[in-house]
Amino acid sequence: MNIHEYQAKAVLKSFGAPVAEGVPVLSLDDVQKAVDTLPGPLWVVKSQIHAGGRGKGKFIEDAAGEKGGVRLAFSKEEVLEHAKAMLGHHLVTAQTSAEGKQVNRLYIEDGADIDRELYLSLLVDRATGRPAFVASTEGGMDIEEVAHETPEKILTLPIDPTTGVTDADAAQLCDALKLDGAAREDGMKLFPILYKAFTEKDMAMLEINPLIVMENGHLRVLDAKVSFDGNALFRHPDIVELRDTTEEDEKEIEASEWDLAYIALDGTIGCMVNGAGLAMATMDIIKLYGEEPANFCDVGGGANAEKVAAAFKIIMKDPNVKGILVNIFGGIMKCDVIAEGVIAAVKETNLAVPLVVRLEGTNVEMGKEIIKNSGLNVIPADDLDDAAQKIVAAVKEA
Ligand code: ADP
Ligand code: MG
Repeated sequence: MNIHEYQAKAVLKSFGAPVAEGVPVLSLDDVQKAVDTLPGPLWVVKSQIHAGGRGKGKFIEDAAGEKGGVRLAFSKEEVLEHAKAMLGHHLVTAQTSAEGKQVNRLYIEDGADIDRELYLSLLVDRATGRPAFVASTEGGMDIEEVAHETPEKILTLPIDPTTGVTDADAAQLCDALKLDGAAREDGMKLFPILYKAFTEKDMAMLEINPLIVMENGHLRVLDAKVSFDGNALFRHPDIVELRDTTEEDEKEIEASEWDLAYIALDGTIGCMVNGAGLAMATMDIIKLYGEEPANFCDVGGGANAEKVAAAFKIIMKDPNVKGILVNIFGGIMKCDVIAEGVIAAVKETNLAVPLVVRLEGTNVEMGKEIIKNSGLNVIPADDLDDAAQKIVAAVKEA
């Protein structure tokens, strides 16, 4: 689950991290009030959307496309001007679709005098199975680009969970970020604070880009992007409160209500599967035969007919879907139940694209029988290979 920058900063502040003063606003009336509570003489108006790269983004409504989603203002009037140009408008960044995201909230923040912009993040490092810091002096820019062009400028430092961030760890991070004086003192305090926030709140990722050294020599968290481990949310009702469903894909919200895992992709074939391994295999074999998956919906181990029908409808909502492949292994879930769910959904949605169904496992004969007797235009398949070839052929013909 993702949250907005201003929410992430509030969480980090509650652990003691240095962030600027700021006020989130939803309307132009609020902007006026917000700006009066901040000292000036520099304000920053920041679009709050669940996507990065806002500064370099462009508003669709701004024909000249010169100003991004993060703007400096040198007077209160200018704050209002920027707010007008952003609220309700659509911001396109490297991380949004071409339609962009409508900006419904702004964060009016105290402006900082920046000396240097650094990169710092925390994530779970799969190689070591530990939380790890990623630090670089090359902040404020695309870290993937830094990783590609100048990997030597990035330090990855896994943290031993039994000790937490040691002084030696913190010193190593300070060195990598070339911190000295007040900034170094701030850093020695900040790294354990971030680690504590990361682990206590079950974050999946915490990215501060940039962390800045200000002209007064101190550190400040200038941007914050946080996502939480969905499986741990039950432990954090305070975090669940921060969820902004208007920022999420409608299909993904519906899927989560049904406890389905839905992932949107770029191709043409919708995939209904059970289990992550089968999902991967299904997508691989679709690619092998020359097409691309449009999405996949994992119905899990114990789905009933209604859940299968819900999954089917979610897949169908994607206008890029030119055909559907149902590939399910009936273990705990029986093939006849799956077949009934598929048939019910096909009838309800007036399915207009080809559908290939491959079932295997418990009650497979009953399942095939149900599909055959349905009178619907469903293409049965015997194995994964057969299923993939049939759906690819059907999509290419259509
Ligand atoms: P994004 O990563 O989405 O583009 P950031 O919050 O990182 O958004 O802002 C982009 C840039 O805007 C920063 O790298 C920084 O140069 C500038 N900026 C952001 N917030 C402030 C602030 N409070 N004071 C001064 N400059 C800021
Ligand atoms: Mg940033």
